[in-house]
Amino acid sequence: MARGNSERIKNMSPEEFRKSGHEVVDWIAGYLENIRQYPVLSRNSPGDLTAALPQRAPEAGEPMDRILDDFRTLIVPALTHWNHPAFFGYFSTSASGPGILGEMLTAALNVNGMVWKSCPAVTELEQVTLAWLREWMGLPGDWFGVINDTASINVFHAIAAARERMEPTARSIGGSGKLTLYTSEEAHSSVEKGAIALGLGQQNVRKVPVDAEFRMRPDALRAMIVQDLAAGKQPFCIVATTGTTSTTSVDPVAAIADIAEQYGLWLHVDAAYGGPAAILPELRPLFDGIERADSLVVNPHKWLFTPSDCSLLYTKHPDMLCRAFSLVPEYLKTAQDTQAVNLMNYGVPLGRRFRALKLWFIMRHYGREGVCATLRNHIAWARELAAVVEADPAFEVCAPVPFSLVCFRYRGSDAQNQELMDAVNATGKAFLSHTVLHGRFVIRWALGNIATTHADVFDTWELVRKFAPRPALSSQ
Ligand code: PLP
Repeated sequence: MARGNSERIKNMSPEEFRKSGHEVVDWIAGYLENIRQYPVLSRNSPGDLTAALPQRAPEAGEPMDRILDDFRTLIVPALTHWNHPAFFGYFSTSASGPGILGEMLTAALNVNGMVWKSCPAVTELEQVTLAWLREWMGLPGDWFGVINDTASINVFHAIAAARERMEPTARSIGGSGKLTLYTSEEAHSSVEKGAIALGLGQQNVRKVPVDAEFRMRPDALRAMIVQDLAAGKQPFCIVATTGTTSTTSVDPVAAIADIAEQYGLWLHVDAAYGGPAAILPELRPLFDGIERADSLVVNPHKWLFTPSDCSLLYTKHPDMLCRAFSLVPEYLKTAQDTQAVNLMNYGVPLGRRFRALKLWFIMRHYGREGVCATLRNHIAWARELAAVVEADPAFEVCAPVPFSLVCFRYRGSDAQNQELMDAVNATGKAFLSHTVLHGRFVIRWALGNIATTHADVFDTWELVRKFAPRPALSSQ
């Protein structure tokens, strides 16, 4: 009998694993401790890393020491440091300590939660953790939650569930081409992508105009629905946003829910970024009406200190997700099918990582109080920053600040604003990104990192003033 190749690869020995593992953990601890030493944006040019790496993978295996050396000398300089406390671009995120530890264990366990039986802990911890967060956010107690990788994938699933309810034949014979979906001009591009991926037709996505504060206008929404019905179209879904990407504006969900109910449309709420703020009692009124939604997405990997990826989809109609997606091959049938949740039935992915573990670590380690305290700091500093910017005659704040994002511009040309932002970013001390509002270049300053301090914010403000094209008049 063949005994196999005695030269086969063996896993690392426990000794080797311990040695390199301790080295990696020490590196991570030092990285988090000294992260301000790194330039937020990589100083590499396109192709630098590629040129520094061999074109072919090694024939013979290499020791971990050498690999970790290359990690430090080649990979780290090519990083944009998303975990840097002065990373203020896009939406500022963070991998907190407990989140990183949870993620490490997830990799070590390498379990797969396709069905309950394939790993009961994946299914049950996900359900428990999502019920905890549901309660923190004041969502209805009977909503079902599932974790996927991104908000983009979750909105795709929400739209599919909405279609299933309106046009159940779509699953078997394809769509009628009549369905129309409504979202605001300021909605994230993932809404449109979801509609494209489902074959609804990009032209059937209606972009509802926004008001002066970048919020969906319910009157315009209603008018578009009425017009589409008259034209023989079939409105089926509205996607509202509580925390838009450009300005974190909050659509008037209660008024939109009235319209959704009147016309029998599915209401999905994109709370990918803003959602965690619903945990704060003083901000919960901003979210009035979300309890009337059919589905909602929130991303702990944005503003809940969770390493990427972790995006939650809640819905009051899990049956619609199942009707849209459940398809069980023989090899995945189990004796517990009637008693347990099998997560594969609620969407496209079959295999799923143990993502709930890191979120559970975070919720337990910080508790509601710790989470609220950090969110409140971000919000308070954003408001303080907006006030300081507004008080400086050389600058203007360009949108309300409901959460922790400040949109502002230097009172000059678009080119001057772009140069100002580039100059700040070139220092390596901070990173700001941009958007366009009312046709003008606007700098976005997002707070959301758990390690950000008041000094990170206001030292960066001094940088902004320093690089403003003409000496900014004193704001003091
Ligand atoms: N929705 C909003 C409001 C966003 O700002 C973003 C990304 O920034 C997304 C959805 C997409 O998130 P993801 O990267 O998880 O797909």
